[in-house]
Amino acid sequence: MKFSQLFMPTTKETPSDATLPSHQFLIRGGFITQSGAGLYDFLPLGKKVLEKIKTIVKEEMDNAGANEMQCSFVTPLSFWDDSGRSSTMGSELLRFKDRKNADYVLSPTNEESVVNMVKNRITSYKNLPVNLYHINLKFRDEARPRFGLMRGREFLMKDAYSFHDSTEDLVREFHVMEEAYKKVYTRLGLEFRVVDADSGAIGGSGSKEFMVLANSGEDTIVVCPECEYGANIEAATRKKRHFNAWFENSSAPQKCEKVLTEGMKTIEEVSNFLSVSKAQNIKAVMKKAIYEEETKVVIFFVRGDDELEETKACNAVDALDLDDANEEELIAAGLNPGYCGPFGLPEDITFVIDEELQGEVGLACGANEENYHFVNTDLSELKEAKYFDLIAVQEGDLCSCCGGKLEYTKGIEAGHIFQLGTKYSEAMDANFLDANGKSQPFVMGCYGIGVSRLVAAVIEQNHDEKGCIWTKETAPFAVDVIVSNAKKEDELNAGLEIYDSLKKCGVEVIIDDRTKERFGFKMGDFELIGFPYAVVVGKKLQDGLVEIVDRKTLEKTEVNAADAAAKIIELLNS
Ligand code: ATP
Ligand code: MG
Repeated sequence: MKFSQLFMPTTKETPSDATLPSHQFLIRGGFITQSGAGLYDFLPLGKKVLEKIKTIVKEEMDNAGANEMQCSFVTPLSFWDDSGRSSTMGSELLRFKDRKNADYVLSPTNEESVVNMVKNRITSYKNLPVNLYHINLKFRDEARPRFGLMRGREFLMKDAYSFHDSTEDLVREFHVMEEAYKKVYTRLGLEFRVVDADSGAIGGSGSKEFMVLANSGEDTIVVCPECEYGANIEAATRKKRHFNAWFENSSAPQKCEKVLTEGMKTIEEVSNFLSVSKAQNIKAVMKKAIYEEETKVVIFFVRGDDELEETKACNAVDALDLDDANEEELIAAGLNPGYCGPFGLPEDITFVIDEELQGEVGLACGANEENYHFVNTDLSELKEAKYFDLIAVQEGDLCSCCGGKLEYTKGIEAGHIFQLGTKYSEAMDANFLDANGKSQPFVMGCYGIGVSRLVAAVIEQNHDEKGCIWTKETAPFAVDVIVSNAKKEDELNAGLEIYDSLKKCGVEVIIDDRTKERFGFKMGDFELIGFPYAVVVGKKLQDGLVEIVDRKTLEKTEVNAADAAAKIIELLNS
């Protein structure tokens, strides 16, 4: 490819909404351009990168034995009614009507389509297992499309769906996919971590995310420096903490008592007053839980020094979302803000307690009465209480696997694999006959990779202040032969010679043969676009020399023009 023929509108302007380096450099480097909110066109260079990532994903999926297919992007709303997701997916599901007034959606994911594809076509255990995938457009009407390709509304995903006759076989395939995914991210040249994850709206049990490590990542991941443990904060767990009961450390009363705590509404005030640690209090976090048909106040009880993890909390009460509740709403629900505790709540209030508190004694909590708290409570008295893991693991908490001190790091979710089980096959009545001739719902897994998000993720992990630094496997071209002054015939011919010999050896090479641009400008484009190497053909050609520039280090090495191609090939293979 020649620069003189390439459509590559680089620019110095940074779009005002582009805060992330990947967003800025992909637009400035002429890889993508925005066509609407959360909608992007891929320009020739961006399309090349996208295709490279697609190819790697496809090769590893094919190697793992999956079948490529393609679902229609537009799907009938009836599919989503069958699975029940037309009501639970909310506004992310974009619906529309055709000329006959029939309802359709733009696919945000394709569980329903693939169940529909397999249903009544695979009827016997003899034809299982099977894994079907495509690399196809998705549309999610995201509330806040942002960060360029990172969170678009229209985006490219590789999604695969596997069908099994048993959970054991699903678990086997889940591991096969995990290994295939690791190969994908390794080949892309990315630093990543596989972590335990929440299953979100897709549902099912057991899921893992593939996080590309980057400071700008939207996800907080909890990792153990001592062992392999890693989890998204939405699913992270820690070693259970236990504190001796209050009365074991002091001469305080040994049974539950109500004490006057006038005007003390915060954990800080109450624990100072009672001379106990914050962890020996029960904190009430009051929220509004949003359901399909209603909104109601719910209470989450956690230790005084813990914070609520909203995804865990939302799952615990099966809500679609949680919102803050204001004081008036709490009072209207019969609650005493500042003095709320799990003992003696109004009967109709839904509450859940963090599982670390199960069976704990000696804790203080609100008495559900203005100006009063209980001390020395015994949670085992609450026979009907429901316990869930509700808390956000904090840095320094102990790893439940090895006792190491957990740390936070930031990641970009680049893939997510799920053990779905029979959620969709049961809902959509998709069954097969087992070895005993008995009808059973398919056991399913599903596996996603954010293909277009990966274009951005590569740059989040690989850039400097000048621009992109593509990894060898993702670069649109491996080498840019920069002809310093393309009006000079000898320079242009020497450049073309290097270009041709690299091409003959199968190297993806581009030549900057533009006659109207100066050397500084061409070098700026090389740095902004981020090809791994440049060969600069300039003044030194008189002495038979050219310069090789390494984009990552910006180091320059002089070599004989005649050896340049061989040297580049050596660097690319190293
Ligand atoms: P997120 O939590 O980031 O919204 P998700 O959990 O909704 O992601 P999945 O449903 O698991 O995502 O989709 C599979 C993959 O598709 C994700 O791992 C991610 O890489 C990618 N993806 C999801 N939403 C978007 C988006 N709006 N834009 C680009 N890629 C996306
Ligand atoms: Mg999402």
